[in-house]
Amino acid sequence: MSTNSRFKKDKIPSFLKAYSRVKLLKQRIPFMVSWEITRRCNSKCLYCIGNVEEPELSTKQVLEVIRKMAVAGTKIISLTGGEPLMRSDIGQVIDFAARKNIFIKLATNGFLLKERIKELTNASIIQLSLDGDREITENIRGRETFGKTIQGLQAAIKYRVPIYLNTVVSKFNHSSLHEVLDICDKYKVKTFFQPARLEVLRDSRKNPVCLSPEEHKTSIKKLIQYKKSKKFAKTILNSFSGLSYLYEWPKPSPLAWCSAAKLTFRLNNQGRLCACPAENVTYADVLQSGFSGAVEKVETFKCDGCWCASQLEFNLVMNFKLEAIKNFFMCKFL
Ligand code: SF4
Ligand code: SF4
Repeated sequence: MSTNSRFKKDKIPSFLKAYSRVKLLKQRIPFMVSWEITRRCNSKCLYCIGNVEEPELSTKQVLEVIRKMAVAGTKIISLTGGEPLMRSDIGQVIDFAARKNIFIKLATNGFLLKERIKELTNASIIQLSLDGDREITENIRGRETFGKTIQGLQAAIKYRVPIYLNTVVSKFNHSSLHEVLDICDKYKVKTFFQPARLEVLRDSRKNPVCLSPEEHKTSIKKLIQYKKSKKFAKTILNSFSGLSYLYEWPKPSPLAWCSAAKLTFRLNNQGRLCACPAENVTYADVLQSGFSGAVEKVETFKCDGCWCASQLEFNLVMNFKLEAIKNFFMCKFL
């Protein structure tokens, strides 16, 4: 039985149990952890700082943290980076988490996916970054990156590892979003749209590819139109509520309830924990405090609203938006 189906079986009860402990007993349950497991990367996308060589947890330390996460109630780990496949032990990490019945989402640029796919078959789902056709992709990520990404996509399909795309909406693709939707149509996969951030990822410099406020609103309107169309209704994973929320950026209405530091946490490459992927301050070292100890030390912070589209969708589940709830329980994205 695959990890994915194993998780689905206990997903609803384990989620409801965690949610009720958080809501009624005011406990913190690290149900979902976004883990920037390395900052090394083999790409240099225009909207990101790119490769960062920093000390990171050893294999032994990573497995020990996962063991403690499982005890603390973690049911979903989202492995991000950097590029997680820069770690030679990533398959071992995924296999170990699978044995702990943790749902693993692996976010990757896909460059190494074709050669590493056999190690990754226990991943519950892969999130593959793709912003458009060859021209768009290579303008953002560099020469010969499109072919490697598509080969990675084909490999995941061949080995039956569930996969979806993640598309950053930027100056390069906002007027041709249909390019990525056509690729989805060709390979029978879905995609999740993430507007480019105002700052470069993991840097404070202005993002050179982010849209003007008008372009941003026009692109979200376009996505809503595509989602209403018969052809792409099921291809776009963002919920209508999520797109409407993002349309209002940078002044979205506050969410009634935010999961950060209650049900969701972010762990960095050095084992330090904070409340949310949008936050840079880390509060506790999981090696020193233990995972559960670190969870208790994390502080919440005041933010302008969710910009990370998948974190937003998780929050919409908590705010009882039906379409987001359906997506979540069907593991369409995480
Ligand atoms: S966006 Fe991802 S793939 Fe691109 S440089 Fe940054 S970490 Fe690497
Ligand atoms: S960005 Fe803000 S609203 Fe969204 S999860 Fe983080 S803290 Fe909560």
